[in-house]
Amino acid sequence: MERTFIAIKPDGVQRGLISEIITRFERKGFKLVGIKIMVPSNGFAQKHYHGLKERPFFNGLCNFLSSGPVVAMVWEGEGVIRYGRKLIGTDPQKSEPGTIRGDLAVVLGRNVIHGSDGPETAKDEISLWFKPEELV
Ligand code: ATP
Ligand code: MG
Repeated sequence: MERTFIAIKPDGVQRGLISEIITRFERKGFKLVGIKIMVPSNGFAQKHYHGLKERPFFNGLCNFLSSGPVVAMVWEGEGVIRYGRKLIGTDPQKSEPGTIRGDLAVVLGRNVIHGSDGPETAKDEISLWFKPEELV
């Protein structure tokens, strides 16, 4: 069954949005198959965002991701990669109300949540953040 990697970023954890975000994925009908809370090191954040290495905001982004606790999760279900991105929204300023970023975020750099953007990144991100035995 299809799986995706979802992370509640340090701003989302700090603002008390963990249960709010999990509820939205659960209510939709997706299945939580892995979850942990951790403070990623800067090096770990750089691995996670390696595809964005050339972007001017890369260092700031990695510093931010490693600035506090992150809730790392794997969610499973038919179409979960694509539909998970729908639940998340896009740029907080462009996201519709009803999406996580539309409802809960204002600025691009503090957008509360990450979701894998395709099957390849989902596979890579799941194996970066989780050992196989940590998933049910
Ligand atoms: P995510 O991968 O986190 O789900 P995304 O796919 O919508 O978000 P990406 O283009 O992959 O966006 O960028 C990754 C993250 O980098 C974004 O979630 C955002 O936090 C940050 N980011 C993107 N563009 C900018 C920018 N111009 N300035 C600052 N931060 C940015
Ligand atoms: Mg992305």
